[in-house]
Amino acid sequence: METDCLFCRIVAGDIPATVVRETERTLAFRDIGPKAPVHVLVIPKEHYVDVATLGAGDPALAGEVLATAAVVAEDEGLLGDGFRLMFNTGAYGGQEVFHVHAHLLGGAPLGPMLA
Ligand code: 5GP
Ligand code: ZN
Repeated sequence: METDCLFCRIVAGDIPATVVRETERTLAFRDIGPKAPVHVLVIPKEHYVDVATLGAGDPALAGEVLATAAVVAEDEGLLGDGFRLMFNTGAYGGQEVFHVHAHLLGGAPLGPMLA
């Protein structure tokens, strides 16, 4: 737990969030500023800065994040029409919160990735 990390504070329950799924080591909650009809953030409860450090440090946990995202995608009815799952990473990737999170986006056509 990093006390100055927004998402660690959500994991700790210090900051409210609309949680859609929780497992022993992951949490999925709705983005506060949704960019699509469905916009859920999926995180490991343990603090890793970005997907590179998570993937290198605990690949099994990275897999658990993907598995949680897949269940949420099904629960949100996204499997038929499809969805986008992405990790913004670092300055060029547009990352603003430095606790790794997957954006799960869907519910409408999202257009080309880099439009
Ligand atoms: P990033 O740019 O780091 O990939 O994305 C950070 C995301 O976190 C943004 O989509 C932003 O809307 C979301 N966010 C920022 N603060 C909060 C918050 O307090 N609660 C929730 N649920 N989402 C947040
Ligand atoms: Zn954190």
